[in-house]
Amino acid sequence: MEGERDVIVVGAGPAGATTAVYLAQQGYNVLLLDRHQFPRDKICGDAVPAGAIETLTQLGMGDKIKQAVARGELYPLQGMLLVSPKGYKLEADFHKGKAGGDSYVAPRIYFDAIIQSYAIEAGAEFRQMQVTGPLLENGRVVGVKGKENGRSRDIRAKVVIGADGVTSAIARALRPKAEQHVDKHRAVALRAYIEGVEELPGRVEFYLYNEILPGYAWIFPTAPDRANIGLGMRLDHFRAKKKSLEEMLNAFLAMPDIKKRLKNGYELRDMATWQLNFGSQKGMQHVFDGALLVGDAAGFINPLTGGGIHNSIVSAKLAARTVHESLQKGDVSRAAMQIYERRCHNAMWSSMKRSYRFQTGLMSFPFLIDFFVKRMKANSGLAKIFLTKL
Ligand SMILES: Cc1cc2nc3c(=O)[nH]c(=O)nc-3n(C[C@H](O)[C@H](O)[C@H](O)COP(=O)(O)OP(=O)(O)OC[C@H]3O[C@@H](n4cnc5c(N)ncnc54)[C@H](O)[C@@H]3O)c2cc1C
Repeated sequence: MEGERDVIVVGAGPAGATTAVYLAQQGYNVLLLDRHQFPRDKICGDAVPAGAIETLTQLGMGDKIKQAVARGELYPLQGMLLVSPKGYKLEADFHKGKAGGDSYVAPRIYFDAIIQSYAIEAGAEFRQMQVTGPLLENGRVVGVKGKENGRSRDIRAKVVIGADGVTSAIARALRPKAEQHVDKHRAVALRAYIEGVEELPGRVEFYLYNEILPGYAWIFPTAPDRANIGLGMRLDHFRAKKKSLEEMLNAFLAMPDIKKRLKNGYELRDMATWQLNFGSQKGMQHVFDGALLVGDAAGFINPLTGGGIHNSIVSAKLAARTVHESLQKGDVSRAAMQIYERRCHNAMWSSMKRSYRFQTGLMSFPFLIDFFVKRMKANSGLAKIFLTKL
């Protein structure tokens, strides 16, 4: 058994790597673990809102982001298009009015590597390890258990951060069984990359239509003729459909407005599905004696947009602040760190509640979407929400 760390972060996605940056910058001994070496892919729509970019820039990643944009890895966005079931269009320009800020379609193979490498530069140690669960003593988390280079290993830490995504081994072991996400607060989505699609003038496109509601299909450009394409829907509705997401994607590609934009010999690659846990389910525990959960491990995805990158980064900041205060006091019990749940609630709950209300109310009734989209047409308020939160 090796020496005790101040903090072990399990998972080096946006939530874990950002938490590691915050804590390493404050001089803590941070071990960042991931089952994959980086760069690595993550199934996602890759849309990164300006709010997330702003926080990463404040942390010192501005130059790395600019360099990635110059290499063509991150694709800057100008605006968005939302198409209603009857084909009404709502367009928004991201740089008009007060909206401002830069948002990107940032394939996660590049985006996550920016934060993970910056965490190492900030002083965190990164190792590839498959974590199997928390190391427990008298009901308290005192480290992690896992497999490294095929060997079992236990590593101790004063605090463990579970940032290991939707299938979190840390959350599964620590959360009471009754607190698993139920189907109406979960979604399933398919993502692919498409090459050979016409006219992608720097805007993200959302398609709402009867077959997919409550959910949507998207085309998010990664270059002038390439895009991240996919669709997702709430899990309970998906189960009732008895159709695969792949069949649904083919039906979307066959819609006349989409089909006419596909060039001869267009190609789909890297098609894969993954799950999303919404932040709209009440009463979830995120803090335990010696551990807390961030990002998708906690379940902070917006139930309307499916966006989770921004909230991962928000929760990382709140977790780092809480862990810092607790380490200073020498008390990492649930009682001492429980304020993290209150902070997350204050930062995200009203938006989760409102989004879920929209999802269950508006998104379930196609005629209502048509009505609103027809009336709103150009709306910079919508652009602002996208830009800051997604
Ligand atoms: C199809 C789809 C489309 C989406 N589109 C968008 C979008 O366009 N914009 C947006 O903002 N959000 C989107 N989301 C949500 C977004 O992907 C997540 O909210 C975000 O990735 C959460 O970041 P995270 O760091 O919490 O988790 P993750 O990004 O999942 O990172 C978790 C990390 O933990 C590692 N890990 C997992 N288990 C272990 C283990 N046992 N041991 C060690 N390491 C482990 C993984 O390898 C991974 O690197 C989408 C999600 C899906 C499924």
